[in-house]
Amino acid sequence: MVATDIARNWQEVREAVPSSVEVIAVSKTKPIEAVEVAYAAGARSFGENRVQELVGKHEALTDPAGGRSSEFEGLDWHQIGTLQKNKVKYIAPFVGLIHAVDEEGLLAEIDKRAATCGRRIPALLQLHIAQESSKFGLSEAELEALVDQLDGGAWPHVEVKGLMGMATFTSDEGQVAQEFGGLRKLFDRLAPGRGWDTLSMGMSGDWRIAVEEGSTMVRIGSSIFGTR
Ligand SMILES: *Cc1c(COP(=O)(O)O)cnc(C)c1O
Repeated sequence: MVATDIARNWQEVREAVPSSVEVIAVSKTKPIEAVEVAYAAGARSFGENRVQELVGKHEALTDPAGGRSSEFEGLDWHQIGTLQKNKVKYIAPFVGLIHAVDEEGLLAEIDKRAATCGRRIPALLQLHIAQESSKFGLSEAELEALVDQLDGGAWPHVEVKGLMGMATFTSDEGQVAQEFGGLRKLFDRLAPGRGWDTLSMGMSGDWRIAVEEGSTMVRIGSSIFGTR
């Protein structure tokens, strides 16, 4: 995809999504140049789902040691996909938000690596909302158990900021709305008093429904950068 298309796509998406909703530009599989173009057009938060690629792009653009970080001030990297425990250490020094925390062991590992880096790492708990066994995420009961532990002071170096979910890949918009709506209800019940302000739901194909159902953060890849 040529640079002008990426810049125009970013602007169109940014204008279409309500200004109160944050747009994460999902740059996975796309070259560093695509990130540079989107940044120049105004994008600041970028989502990647493979740690090696995330680290590579960070080193090229935003690692102070790489020498270009002053050109990309404010650029924020999000880990949006499944994260293996043994890879947390590579992103812990710089990652801005981890979207898909779906097990206690991962919370413990993020906590440990964040402490080593002397920081608190923002994270979202991923709920299983789709009627598909292939999508990851916590059950509601598992979520409640983790929230109890967090309330008790567990994992102090993880700053849980809310929830994330992925709807079923289907043309049945009613079903997608129901899944997102259910997640919003859960968020509304759990957020008060916990400082939660982020509900990450919606991608290129279903963000309009997600926003109608109360999303505060959408993760948009192909509508900005083209198909993968
Ligand atoms: C790839 C991906 C996206 C973006 O998908 P598009 O359909 O290209 O917008 C969003 N969220 C997650 C978790 C992803 O892996």
